[in-house]
Amino acid sequence: MPHGARAQALADWLLTTDPRQRIRLAMAGFAALLMLCCAAIVNLMALAGLARQDWVGWWTLITLSGLALQLAAIRSGWSLRLRDPSLTQVQIRYALACNAAGYAILGEARGITPVILSLVLMFGIFGMSPRQLAANMLFALGVFAAAFVAVAWMDEPGRKPALELAYAAMIVLVLIGSTFIAIRLQRIRRRLTRQKQALTGALAQIGHLATHDELTGLVNRRRMTELMAVEQLRCARNERPLILALLDLDHFKHINDNHGHAMGDQVLRAFAATVQATLRSTDVLARWGGEEFVLMLYDTDPACAAPLLERVRLAVQALETRATERVLRATVSIGLAIGEPGETVERILERADEALYLAKAHGRNRVVVHGAALETASAQDAGHGTWPEI
Ligand code: GH3
Ligand code: MG
Ligand code: MG
Repeated sequence: MPHGARAQALADWLLTTDPRQRIRLAMAGFAALLMLCCAAIVNLMALAGLARQDWVGWWTLITLSGLALQLAAIRSGWSLRLRDPSLTQVQIRYALACNAAGYAILGEARGITPVILSLVLMFGIFGMSPRQLAANMLFALGVFAAAFVAVAWMDEPGRKPALELAYAAMIVLVLIGSTFIAIRLQRIRRRLTRQKQALTGALAQIGHLATHDELTGLVNRRRMTELMAVEQLRCARNERPLILALLDLDHFKHINDNHGHAMGDQVLRAFAATVQATLRSTDVLARWGGEEFVLMLYDTDPACAAPLLERVRLAVQALETRATERVLRATVSIGLAIGEPGETVERILERADEALYLAKAHGRNRVVVHGAALETASAQDAGHGTWPEI
């Protein structure tokens, strides 16, 4: 096995392959490593005669066993059943208790414990709520108070009460200072999270604005061009025709001229809603520009396309938009083109436009299928504008 692969296999075995577990174990492992270093220093001091070796021996055994248990609880997945699978709170409280016990037993060397305490407290800075931080501070004050009482009770020879007082003050300062900084950091973090959420929302809104028409809420020309390109590829692969239609409101200029632009806008909105309500949710209607729309029919039998558009035409014809004192009606002309194998989107649209031109030329309010036989105008007019096949 190459060196890199072996290191990877070892890391996988130690930290598992679950990314969250890996972070938990890496953090807990790092904390344990620091504790191990602290234990080594404490033992060196005991060897140098600054603290009782037997007490330090027991302290080391208990501290390291506890750490090993915590690591095992995380590595085995047992901690996953808990609310805090990282065991951060347990680890910090355990470290605080060991630290306070260290203070009690370290004799002359107990001056290093406030330094180790600040190291322990750093681990709680990121992941804890202000309430948990405050609770931990009280817990630390409690265990250190017990340690101070123990030291006073043991009353070792050569004890220096003034120094103990200074240590106590140091410990209180470290606790208050780190808790204050941690709460401050929490606030900053929460603000950053809020800002990130706002930014994500704004980005989604910008994305929507870039792809949708503001007036009708329909997909805009840019997005529709992308959607048609994708669908064309899909149709080519599945040997299905791409079906496109151009819809243009009839004499729309009159509506604007006679009833005002705002009324025209209202008709456009009502038109878009009516057409969409007539279609399947998979079909896409886009505002192509002004009062012109493109419709793409998904997965539709070509023979069903013209009847479907006829239903659309009738629905628009039946649409009533209320002006101040009268009811406005609008009609639509539709040009339909069924794509040939290998035909480009541009070409299909061109053919739909030709069909639309014919629909306009033959009296409007009708559906014309490109390439089909054109019926006589009189039959068309009698038949409410339906152009079966031209
Ligand atoms: P035709 O039956 O031949 O299509 O006649 P038309 O009047 O509908 O066509 P024309 O192209 O002459 O006029 C289209 C009008 O649509 C002109 C333009 O002012 C209007 N229009 C385009 N976009 C909007 C819009 O967003 N709101 C409103 N109210 N009117 C618009
Ligand atoms: Mg028009
Ligand atoms: Mg037009």
